Amino acid sequence: MNMEFERKIAIPMEVKEMFPIDAAVQTTIEKKREEIKKIISGRDERILLVIGPCSADREDAVIDYILRLRKVQEKVEDRVFIVPRVYTNKPRTTGDGYKGLLHSPVPGEKPDLFKGIITTRELHMRAVKETGFACADEMLYPENYKYLDDILGYVTVGARSVEDQQHRLTASAVEAAVGMKNPTSGDLSVMMNSIHAAQRPHTFLYRGWTGHSAGNEYAHAILRGFNTKGDQTFPNYHYEDVMYLNELYEKSDLKNPAVVIDTNHANSNKNPFEQVRIVDEVMRYRKFNDNARRLVKGFMVESYIEDGCQKIGEGIYGKSITDACLGWEKTEKMIYDLAEMV
Ligand code: PEP
Ligand code: MN
Repeated sequence: MNMEFERKIAIPMEVKEMFPIDAAVQTTIEKKREEIKKIISGRDERILLVIGPCSADREDAVIDYILRLRKVQEKVEDRVFIVPRVYTNKPRTTGDGYKGLLHSPVPGEKPDLFKGIITTRELHMRAVKETGFACADEMLYPENYKYLDDILGYVTVGARSVEDQQHRLTASAVEAAVGMKNPTSGDLSVMMNSIHAAQRPHTFLYRGWTGHSAGNEYAHAILRGFNTKGDQTFPNYHYEDVMYLNELYEKSDLKNPAVVIDTNHANSNKNPFEQVRIVDEVMRYRKFNDNARRLVKGFMVESYIEDGCQKIGEGIYGKSITDACLGWEKTEKMIYDLAEMV
């Protein structure tokens, strides 16, 4: 290989020994995962709201943001179940740019992956300990999932990864519910095949072991819109899209038919303010049709303290350095309005 190997990194077991979770955190995680699974399977009719910045770029602002969510959660807990997004790995369309906390614990500085692994684990641990939430992260690098497998409440496989074999097989071993996004091309069969793969048990190579996964019956769909030619985006959160997805589920033998609507990305054409309208529209058509109501279990919203986004180096606290987000005031209002519509 034409690659210089800088250092050997501690394995997940060693990192977990260095940074163990305590019994209280473990109980929180187990309880929250169970609650999320109840929503995904329809045993709990609350709306799942996975919400937070596109990337968890700095610990202070992320914890501040989640503490704000905590107060809102208490007010809407009978209708909306909040899972903060703490996204520590960023897939990049071309591979260029900020790759997340895992690569750069301090954005803009030289990558330090071991520090990134520790910072990521500590941030997730802090979030559970200090806020009582179990958070969501994207499983961008399946091999790294084991560094966080005891601490995440909800996991996603992103649009650029959903067709990949190792992601699918690893998702089949994930204990938390896994949302599988439609690919950037929008081909829903790729997503459905991915859900199928994740729901079944597999034997595969993982971190140097032959492993046997149990299958994850809570693997489900996330619709995030799509691109066809170049930059042109197309939404797929509309009634017709969800009814079509319902048909695909009906033709399949998949367990726990469910979809989470990602309101940003190609669904909002990256305009974060559209997210408020999209949540509103989906909640309206959900009332109109039982199948739509049964299938749509919740939303994924990109939100942070400040509206919009900034370039790395501008250093504005609580403002996204990746996709533009809905700021806190609008977010708070959106969640209360959502709760009214459940
Ligand atoms: C994201 O959730 O920030 C993200 C990168 O999503 P997608 O995989 O849908 O592009
Ligand atoms: Mn994003």
